[in-house]
Amino acid sequence: MAILEVLKGVRTHPSADWIYDEVRKKLPHISKGTIYRNLNVLEDEDVLVELNVDGMVGRYEIRQDNHYHFICQQCGRIFDLNEPIETELNVKFAKKTGFNITHHHLEFRGLCHDCQAGLAKSN
Ligand SMILES: [Zn+2]
Ligand SMILES: [Zn+2]
Repeated sequence: MAILEVLKGVRTHPSADWIYDEVRKKLPHISKGTIYRNLNVLEDEDVLVELNVDGMVGRYEIRQDNHYHFICQQCGRIFDLNEPIETELNVKFAKKTGFNITHHHLEFRGLCHDCQAGLAKSN
């Protein structure tokens, strides 16, 4: 429960270690092992997703509709882009290639607002 509360409060797809630090503020005696175990359980139950992002391990978010991500190359935070998935791309490339395309994975990279303003704090 504490894990879900932490994740509901952030939009930056934190790492397991970051989640551990936040949960520990509320439950000071909790162990890292407990956090990792519960993250796995929540993932198995399909409540959480571990993001599959190039060069980054163990970033979590609460499962929601498929959406695009923006990854800041300076601070490493991952943001949701509130744009619908362009399913026309699947159709377009299916037509071109004859492949039966079910979905695509696309991520955007650059600098977030804070980093553009020189205010980067790492996550
Ligand atoms: Zn940034
Ligand atoms: Zn997301």
